[in-house]
Amino acid sequence: MARVPFIAGNWKLNHGPKAAAALAMGLRDSLANRGDATLAVFPTALSIPAVLPILEGTGIHVGVQEINASQHGAFTGTNSAEMARELGCTYALIGHSERRQLFGETDADVRVKIDAAREAGLLPMVCIGETLQEREAGRVEEVVFRQLSAAFEGIEADVAATITIAYEPVWAIGTGVTATPAQAQEVHAKLRGWLATHYPAFVAEQTRILYGGSVKPDNAAELMSCPDIDGALVGGASLKAADFAGIVAGAVA
Ligand code: PEP
Repeated sequence: MARVPFIAGNWKLNHGPKAAAALAMGLRDSLANRGDATLAVFPTALSIPAVLPILEGTGIHVGVQEINASQHGAFTGTNSAEMARELGCTYALIGHSERRQLFGETDADVRVKIDAAREAGLLPMVCIGETLQEREAGRVEEVVFRQLSAAFEGIEADVAATITIAYEPVWAIGTGVTATPAQAQEVHAKLRGWLATHYPAFVAEQTRILYGGSVKPDNAAELMSCPDIDGALVGGASLKAADFAGIVAGAVA
């Protein structure tokens, strides 16, 4: 079954409301209403209200970079999935390596945040990936399967198929060092194999597994041509509309 390519931009802690609005206008002008790809951006939470009205009706979805396990209450400084949905967000990014490494998010946190996203009507995009040390120790499979098992623990097949997986080797994020297509494809095939052994066939067939880690316009097409790479989660290169559009062009080529 052909999976529609999915390209998402993680703006991280960049672009306040004015710059985010300008970037959204650039994306609207270059990428609105494409039937050949799913597109989403994850602005910083403070810029989401500036971006949403610009992207409304363009088919470019907006997501929130971080959600709390609780929808409301005494949790100073975090985001509610329910409130992000109320604003108009579609996706929630969960388990990004920066959240895991800098903010101590665990596999168990990822699991409960998937529930929080779903309860609120947001589609989860779950990030997994090994560090350089883990790769050099030959532990890639062990690490990504551990992260995947924890994230999908107790998740029914019809729900599992709505989760997007982003494989992001930590050593490739923001470093300019991209995994080779062969390295990425090898892990993506294993992840799809994991889905196939834990769920009915349709889950592995439908689930989009994105690659993330220094994706740029000039390496996107080769990565996306791999059979199990269904798109990209893009950090740095998503901050310029032309670069993001170049990656989309590479993905659908
Ligand atoms: C990311 O933050 O998810 C990412 C992949 O960043 P970059 O594209 O800058 O490596």
